Amino acid sequence: MAVVTDPRQVLDVLRKLQAIDDEIHDVRESRSSMIGNLARLNTVLTQRGNQLVEMRAKLGEAETWFAKKSLDLELEREKLTKAKAKMTVVSRSREYVAVNRELDNIRKNIGHREDEVERLSTAIAEFRTTIESEDEKVRDMRALAETEESSSRESLAEMESKIAEVNTRRNKIASQIDSKLVRRYEKIFKAREGSAVVPIIGDACGGCQMNAPPRLVEQIMRSSSLIQCPYCNRYMYQDTAHNEDGDVVSV
Ligand SMILES: [Zn+2]
Repeated sequence: MAVVTDPRQVLDVLRKLQAIDDEIHDVRESRSSMIGNLARLNTVLTQRGNQLVEMRAKLGEAETWFAKKSLDLELEREKLTKAKAKMTVVSRSREYVAVNRELDNIRKNIGHREDEVERLSTAIAEFRTTIESEDEKVRDMRALAETEESSSRESLAEMESKIAEVNTRRNKIASQIDSKLVRRYEKIFKAREGSAVVPIIGDACGGCQMNAPPRLVEQIMRSSSLIQCPYCNRYMYQDTAHNEDGDVVSV
């Protein structure tokens, strides 16, 4: 298709592009927010899943430590049994005092170790409860994410096909003008939140309401060249057309 260069025709193409982009804007926004939400949910899930793995590793370390401490306690108890046996064969009082002191020490040690094992056991039980509840939360979140994902799938597919359909129409229209011009228009459309081509109202830009310099107003009226607002960069067109004598004719 031949590329049009006449300002009037170019403006016409730009206005058609804007109408199409308007039409598809909300669909694009919903699509990207839906995709964004799913991605965020998955990121949080991954983070919490990793945290759970770390917590379980720490629990494993604590359990190993607990096993070691329990064994120490067991050994201490064996020592006590042996010392008690020694006591039964003690004959002299000096020896008796020594063994008695040994028994005292062992009992003290056993007391300390029992406290330690008890504390560890409580801490491990608490930690295990924390991990279980976190695991449950993560499972709930995962189920929610799966539901969300499967319910989004259909809407996403609908949006994709709508976007594809509109894009086909849009490409046809966009191909009528210079591609550099299309890109410039797209930049303005994005920067000005969906308004890149505006009518001139009186002498003012229909976008930013600033008065355009008379020279530009005159050029717009004659449609002699493509004019952008000097303040907001939007393309400006006249709502009414003028004949060769400069009289207003309806469009
Ligand atoms: Zn403006």
